[in-house]
Amino acid sequence: MAHADEPKVSGVDRSRRVKYIRSIDQVTNIPESEREKLKKVSERYVFRANDYYLGLINWNDPNDPIKQLIIPRQEELNDWGQLDASKESQVTVARGVQHKYPHTVLLLCNEVCGAYCRYCFRKRLFMDENDEVTLDVSEGLKYIAEDPAVTNVLLTGGDPLLMSTRRLVEIFDALRKIPHVRIIRIGSKMPAFDPWRILRDEALQEAFRKYSQPDRRIYLMAHFDHPRELTEEAVTGLDCFIKSGVICVNQCPMIAGINDDPGVLTELWQRLAWAGCPPYYLFQGRPTAGNEPYAVPIVRGWNIFRQANLTGSGLARRPRYVMSHETGKIEILAVDEEHIYLRYHRAKEESDRGRFMIYKRDDEAGWMDELEPVNEDSPRFAPSPLLALDEAFGGLEVGDAPD
Ligand code: SF4
Repeated sequence: MAHADEPKVSGVDRSRRVKYIRSIDQVTNIPESEREKLKKVSERYVFRANDYYLGLINWNDPNDPIKQLIIPRQEELNDWGQLDASKESQVTVARGVQHKYPHTVLLLCNEVCGAYCRYCFRKRLFMDENDEVTLDVSEGLKYIAEDPAVTNVLLTGGDPLLMSTRRLVEIFDALRKIPHVRIIRIGSKMPAFDPWRILRDEALQEAFRKYSQPDRRIYLMAHFDHPRELTEEAVTGLDCFIKSGVICVNQCPMIAGINDDPGVLTELWQRLAWAGCPPYYLFQGRPTAGNEPYAVPIVRGWNIFRQANLTGSGLARRPRYVMSHETGKIEILAVDEEHIYLRYHRAKEESDRGRFMIYKRDDEAGWMDELEPVNEDSPRFAPSPLLALDEAFGGLEVGDAPD
């Protein structure tokens, strides 16, 4: 419900309750024979959606991007990739707690999402045998309190905004009692899947106003993949986050059939910038099991990224194109006739910080592990000149960025 002094942003009904479904059988726009086949896929990789998001699909278009994002495909059952492609389990320091970079800790505090993106890199968390998520974050909070280097905490999962407001408030309150934690980030696709999560909930808006403080902000790491997700309702939802004191940015992967098109990405980034949620990262899709139909090779991805980044305002052209590799966050800097140029934007090992690398061009490769370095004398093994600067100034965070 809008505050009396709040200008009316749109005619959006702020009181709507979306209806969630868990069975592909409930999607009657799909022919029954097709549903039978897709049920087998959803038995392996779970399906969930809601009436609002399904309503964005143009069912007359077999290649509709919103449909591809949410409706299972049989090719997901192809034998391809690994469930934990970036080996996140190796940086799990306690149940539900990942610590890869000194300043940032991830709390995996929920194992449900509003809907399930078919290309999800964390789909293992939604499987019955998963034990990497914990609803009890007390161990994680203790871990964070004991490490003064941790200035950033990312609430993730799953989608933290699927938790009750009461639980979120408990976590915000506990984190705000830890003086060295400055930034609380919430990784969420709820602004796309269900904008009413924020629009309906005044207690959540109030919590953001209380715990997003002038010198210690809460950030929404939103996840819009396609401009068609930026409906009037979604933009009104973003406005509600912003008016509640939350800083909004967007990160999404490049996904075949959804946004592997320069025109689509340009429009997405422009409209996100207009809405006050500028793009932050564009991720190279991880080679996660089930994701073969959504994979884009690095070289093709770079060309799309480069073209998408040629137009629009500066605010719409800020994303970095990165791979979240097990060794760190690696920026894809350039591709030429013979080579692919990469640099560690964020590194797990100190010795990799800022490292610049040259690999032989391979138009089929989708991940760093598939690339061949030029040779051992190449700059792959030389630290970036920026790293020398960093060392000279002792701890200057050259090339560092939150996860
Ligand atoms: S919202 Fe994020 S965690 Fe949830 S299914 Fe989509 S990509 Fe995966």
